[in-house]
Amino acid sequence: MNCKICNNHSNSFLESTLFNNEQKVTYYKCKTCNFIQAEEPYWLDRAYSSAITKSDIGLISRNIYNSNLLESILLHLFPNVNKCLDYAAGYGMFVRIMRDKGFDFYWHDDYCENIFSEHFVGSLSAKYDIITAFEVFEHLPNPTETIEKLLSISETIFFTTELTDNVSDFNSWWYRGEISGQHISFFHTNTLQYIANKNKLYYYSFANQTLHLLAKNKIDEQALNVFLHPPQRTIWDRILRRATAPIVKPRTSFLTSDYNAIIKQLNS
Ligand SMILES: [Zn+2]
Repeated sequence: MNCKICNNHSNSFLESTLFNNEQKVTYYKCKTCNFIQAEEPYWLDRAYSSAITKSDIGLISRNIYNSNLLESILLHLFPNVNKCLDYAAGYGMFVRIMRDKGFDFYWHDDYCENIFSEHFVGSLSAKYDIITAFEVFEHLPNPTETIEKLLSISETIFFTTELTDNVSDFNSWWYRGEISGQHISFFHTNTLQYIANKNKLYYYSFANQTLHLLAKNKIDEQALNVFLHPPQRTIWDRILRRATAPIVKPRTSFLTSDYNAIIKQLNS
């Protein structure tokens, strides 16, 4: 089998099961970019009988965590960002929270109902300053195609997917998704670096590699360092710095203006 990322030969390296041992699956691992892919996934209809798997009880805390992290990164490193798209945005909770925080986010999802951001539907033919894609890439049957599509409408893509870098036992790794059968593409740092090189992008990761960034423009080194390695502060530092530390002001929320616009639309 050829690697779906770099097109080099990918060796079969594990035979295992899905859906509580009901279905067999073979995984292939690429020696060049370390990408791991499941065999051609014929079981996806079963895996997606409900768009958001019933066992995903982490949905709310993940949205809160991701929105706080993104807010902090955008305020410090991308202060002038305007239109943003959340790709495969699910119920639209992340879009709503980001709008509450003053970021002009829009929703897009081919498979899920938009519950929380109904009035802010984005399009894959528009351009965006930033795209976010949380817990998406591991679901993709054709990751290269999707990533290149996203890069055609934005130069900056933030995404999450668990990396295989420190996984010693892939078979029992929780992220393999034995029960749901939805995860079929597994990335390594080398895979992401390969994608970055191929598309002439910079690759960064944040928060212990929980958030990744592919970007056309290099992030200012100094700003990045201050953000990634804030100076250790003693209590005296803190007292002395309080007067001089640069303060990043949160943005003005869209909550009130969105509410007024929606009410006006509903009344007309
Ligand atoms: Zn490869």
